[in-house]
Amino acid sequence: YVGTKTNEGLLKFLKESPVKDVGSLPIVIAEGKSVYEAIVTLFLEDVGTIYVVKDSYLSGVISRKDLLKTSIGNKDLNTIPVEMVMTRLSHIVYVNEDDSIYEAISKILTYEIDSLPIVTAHDVNKLEVVGRFTKTNISRLLMEFANGN
Ligand code: ADP
Repeated sequence: YVGTKTNEGLLKFLKESPVKDVGSLPIVIAEGKSVYEAIVTLFLEDVGTIYVVKDSYLSGVISRKDLLKTSIGNKDLNTIPVEMVMTRLSHIVYVNEDDSIYEAISKILTYEIDSLPIVTAHDVNKLEVVGRFTKTNISRLLMEFANGN
């Protein structure tokens, strides 16, 4: 099928639809909570990535691997705060709510990550987390497109 996989309708949809229309609800945890609590949240909410917030603005990202890494060789996960193991704001790749789905997919591929926070920017460092865009969202979009929904 190489060379035949072009679809103008799909491309137009991906470039013209805002990512906020297809994202999922974000799962967040506050700075100061422990790695243990983050792991419990991961299981209870059935997600792979949790966003860390401080004063309700995005401050970090914690993925499965971050939690696994910390769990090896650390006895008391209750005493380690999430901010010690998270990826910090300056390194976070995110999308603004009005950015296109196309842009979000490009970022996921470029940075080789599973999910992106969808934010409303109130100021440079004041990013309110309003959603999350994941590889699951991409799979679902593709199936809906294939099935004509
Ligand atoms: P997993 O840990 O399950 O493989 P990822 O590939 O998404 O999940 O995460 C790999 C690393 O990238 C982790 O250290 C995580 O904190 C970081 N990371 C995840 N999402 C983002 C993001 N949106 N921006 C920057 N770093 C991220």
